[in-house]
Amino acid sequence: MKAKPLAYAEKLETLLKRSGIDRLEYGQQQFLRQQCLDYRFTQQELQQLSDIAVDLAMWGERPLDQVWPDAESGNLNPKQRRQRLLGRLSAHWRQLKQRPKRYPRLPPKVTQDRQRIKHVEVDKERLALGPCPVASPRTRCCNLMTLDAVENCGFDCSYCSIQSFYHGDEVRFDRDFASKLARLELDPQRSYHIGTGQSSDSLMWGNRGDVLDALLEFAWRNPNVILELKSKSKNVSHLMKSELPPNLIATWSLNTPTLIAHEEHLTAPLEERLQAARRLADRGVLVGFHLHPMIHYAEWQEEYGAMLQSVLHSFSAEEVVMVSLGTLTYIKPVIKQLRERKGFRSKILQMPMVESDGKLTYPREIKEQMFSFAYQSLQPWHEDVFFYLCMENQRLWRPVFGYEYASNQDFEAAMKQAYLDKIAANGNAR
Ligand code: SF4
Repeated sequence: MKAKPLAYAEKLETLLKRSGIDRLEYGQQQFLRQQCLDYRFTQQELQQLSDIAVDLAMWGERPLDQVWPDAESGNLNPKQRRQRLLGRLSAHWRQLKQRPKRYPRLPPKVTQDRQRIKHVEVDKERLALGPCPVASPRTRCCNLMTLDAVENCGFDCSYCSIQSFYHGDEVRFDRDFASKLARLELDPQRSYHIGTGQSSDSLMWGNRGDVLDALLEFAWRNPNVILELKSKSKNVSHLMKSELPPNLIATWSLNTPTLIAHEEHLTAPLEERLQAARRLADRGVLVGFHLHPMIHYAEWQEEYGAMLQSVLHSFSAEEVVMVSLGTLTYIKPVIKQLRERKGFRSKILQMPMVESDGKLTYPREIKEQMFSFAYQSLQPWHEDVFFYLCMENQRLWRPVFGYEYASNQDFEAAMKQAYLDKIAANGNAR
């Protein structure tokens, strides 16, 4: 005998659980539960509603119960009534994504659990050296090789995909990193561009696990390697007391003070990053800056403008080897993961998104506007500093820079030549 279908009220808790209602604060859960008994939403509609509710909370916008539309009058059937309601709520949600977001003056408090980090030593089978993990055949890429000296990061940037690779608060140091690196054999006839800073921050741990000493030794032993240490840290103390090879470049990811405060938690403030870069440049180390991700918000132009002016005034073109520009790109699992972070407050997903090259990102006009503004703001450096777009479609290059590379190989070759020329010129100047 066929089982009698469950009444809506009986299956409601299952529907709610599957829609991820537990990501919401209790009050919003109760409100949604109440509305379900009135509207009898399907699983899919409930998923959409709870995602909207999660986003409104994450963005610090008015919560679901405060933007819930008044009930429609007129004789709509139950399905039409639900669709009208969802249509109006989605329109509100889209409008909040389309218009430039505004960050409140004060950033959210950084909670204790964000600061809890455990350093562990692990035995890794092999050296984590390989092609850049975010490179894509659909974007114009520099074929960077990445070296993961440490796994997982102590900083907590809300947009960072490292979190989707490494879960939890363990930061793993390869017990045998130094000897593996010492045994690495490279082709002396070839030049290599190898970067650290993709799987963790290159400088925040100092010389823990003798990682920095091993990297410096590696660069001294391989003058055909351009070794790039990428960071958001101010911690240059160990480098300041070390013999630094000419083929070492130190690069910082920069963002506006508003974005650092709201979206790059626990990282060094802008001023301290620039001071750290200044200290190394004073020691003759070539430095560089990654404006990645540039983020579009109400005050983006004036705040990026001010930041780029201070960079221009703090460094000469001779000291700076590169500037890269890039922006937010997401794969769906990272968006899902961000929505699952309980109590997570960030406006990072409050943005217009289009599908491009297999990822979700800003519409092309916004990218062109931001990148062109940044490039033009550094006009005095155009002749002497190597500029590039990171992880972007080749069609963006010409509108932004007025030139483009026909292939990733050409891009890679041009980048390496520019870096090696600067290293040679800098070597003579040292
Ligand atoms: S352009 Fe960016 S994403 Fe592409 S290989 Fe270079 S660093 Fe990686």
